[in-house]
Formats: sequence, structure tokens, C-alpha cells
Amino acid sequence: NPFVRARYLLSAHTPKQLPPEGGAEVAFAGRSNAGKSSALNALCQQNALARVSKTPGRTQQLVFFDMTPPDLADHPRFLVDLPGYGYAKVPQDLQAHWQAFIERYFQTRESLKGLVVVMDIRHPLKDYDRQMIGYAVERGLPAHGLLTKADKLGRGQQMQQLNAVKRELFSAFGDTVSVQTFSAESKQGVDEARAVVAGWMGL
Ligand code: GDP
Repeated sequence: NPFVRARYLLSAHTPKQLPPEGGAEVAFAGRSNAGKSSALNALCQQNALARVSKTPGRTQQLVFFDMTPPDLADHPRFLVDLPGYGYAKVPQDLQAHWQAFIERYFQTRESLKGLVVVMDIRHPLKDYDRQMIGYAVERGLPAHGLLTKADKLGRGQQMQQLNAVKRELFSAFGDTVSVQTFSAESKQGVDEARAVVAGWMGL
């Protein structure tokens, strides 16, 4: 499992602070409290990896985790934690700043190979989720939804939600978008998600 190697690398607040191009990275987006930190921690089998993304001052930054295999040092592999969106408290100009930064990152970042959108299975596909998926799809990048906290629903309801989201994603964005159920609590779907992300990274 290449994900267990993931270590905090840096936080970028401006385009200049991004690591050099030349590698492969996958971005993680999600509304605040959707379960994004828990999903990253579960993928990487670490308890506090993504906690760093939540420290005050880092909530408006792109947080890079390095999981480059030793033999691929010239082509680094990163997980990128995008700011958790939906904080009503964030002032308007800060929101506009990161919105512009994220949009430009999606439009121009060559190392970016795909987007994972973490959504609470009980409240999927809110406006911001659609916006992020839209950014990826416009760039021709694949997007993959994690319907997390699946442990909160029974199997039947999970499948109902999964199929409803699948249908909606397909009609809105086409077949470059996929989705699965997930739980950081029960570890349901962790292997499936790792396979998608590792595949995009060429690992
Ligand atoms: P983030 O703001 O998107 O990073 O969300 P967190 O990972 O901090 O999770 C928000 C809350 O949801 C926390 O109280 C977590 O314990 C809880 N949570 C996250 N993932 C799961 C899950 O898979 N199952 C359950 N039952 N709770 C979860």
C-alpha cells in the first residue's frame, strides 16, 4: 500500500508556493464535516495525517502530502487536500481568493491527474461538490465520489443513494465521473478508493 508512506510536505497559499510540476497528484475536495480528513487518514492508515489541514491558517491553503515511492524521486506523487468548503465564517474576500486559486489550479496544474470528492452519503451533490466536479470535468480530468459515512445507513439505503448519485452524475457530467460507498469508520470501500487514486497516479 503506497499510501502508508504519505507525509505532510507543504501548504500552498499562492500558485508560487506549489511544488514544481513533473509529478502526479490527486486532489481531495469536500464540504466541511463531510469526512474528508477521516477519509484521507483511512486511505493512508494514519490517525492524524490530515489533521494538519485543519490547523487555523491552513484552511485557505492547498495541503500537499508526499507519497513518492523511493524509485520515483524524479516524478513525485502527492495527495492534495483542498480547503474544506462551506465555512460560513470565512470572510467574503478570503473565499473569493481561494475560489480563484482553486479554479486556476484546476485549469493549469499539469501534475493534477484526478479529483476525489468526499460527500456525506446522506447529503451528496451539494452546490460546491458539483462546482468542484465541474472544474475537473472541464479540464478533461476524471472525478471520483466517495459517499462516506456509509456505516450510518443500512445496505439497502446505501445502494439506493449510490444508484441515485450515479444516475445524476452521469447525466450532469458523463462517464468520466465515478462514485462508490465508503466509510472511514468500518473501512468499507477503502481498497476500492485506493485502487482508483493509485491508478490515476500510475502506481
Ligand atoms: P472533514 O471536515 O471533512 O475533514 O471531516 P472529518 O473527517 O473531520 O469528519 C467530520 C465528522 O464526521 C467527525 O466527527 C468524524 O468522526 C465523523 N466521520 C468521518 N468519517 C466518518 C465515517 O466514515 N463514519 C462515521 N460514522 N463518522 C465519520
